[in-house]
Amino acid sequence: MKHYVEVSDQALVQIVMNSLEAFVVLHKGRKRSGIEMHGVLVGYKDEHEEDTQTSKQYKIDFFSPDTSAVMMPDHCIPQAESESLKNEVARCFSDFEVIGAFHTHPYLYTEIKQDDKLDFMRKEGCHFSDEDMDFFTAKLLNNSQEDENYQLEGVLAVFNSKKYNDKRDGRLEDEDNVFEFSVGNLKCFLRMQVFSLDEEGAIQEEETILKCSCLEKFKYIGKSFFDFGRIKVKDNKKVILEHKV
Ligand SMILES: [Zn+2]
Repeated sequence: MKHYVEVSDQALVQIVMNSLEAFVVLHKGRKRSGIEMHGVLVGYKDEHEEDTQTSKQYKIDFFSPDTSAVMMPDHCIPQAESESLKNEVARCFSDFEVIGAFHTHPYLYTEIKQDDKLDFMRKEGCHFSDEDMDFFTAKLLNNSQEDENYQLEGVLAVFNSKKYNDKRDGRLEDEDNVFEFSVGNLKCFLRMQVFSLDEEGAIQEEETILKCSCLEKFKYIGKSFFDFGRIKVKDNKKVILEHKV
């Protein structure tokens, strides 16, 4: 089945705001910048007939960060209770529901070992990790309802590049579900992926197409080169970032 995932402009801004806050701003009790953030994707989903095949549409209207998640530099631990509570709240007020989960992969420039850091981000950094896949598998196994045999997951990978570089911004080559974009000197990669389990219970990627009018047009992002300022390492600190306008 084909899965179309549409990210609204406001959901994109919320995702980037919360991801960058976790990436740059020092959080209480943490000695470094660049911690992971977790949250839920809220909107609605339905099915369509397309060329005699059924496709699934996911419309992400907004994003809600999980303030209860444990946020660490190399992983984050969401609380399952948080997703079910948010789902109930969304349904109380609207037709919305929680339709997926989302987390970040923050990389500090100095901590990427590879010489070609952009190449690392494109080929590895913006992919889900083995631990992510194990976690998603467990989620799918726990989904008992018949219509919940698909799981939508998103990731935003980010790193502080030395300089502004918008080369190859746009859809990542050969991948319909990833956008590469620049915010000032930050390089970001937004990936949306629907997963399911095969007959043997192994996790598999479903064909997923990411749509985002803001990223498709670069309406605002291009402007950030002039307005956004710069994310840099604080003087005399190796792993603490700051935003300089
Ligand atoms: Zn991950």
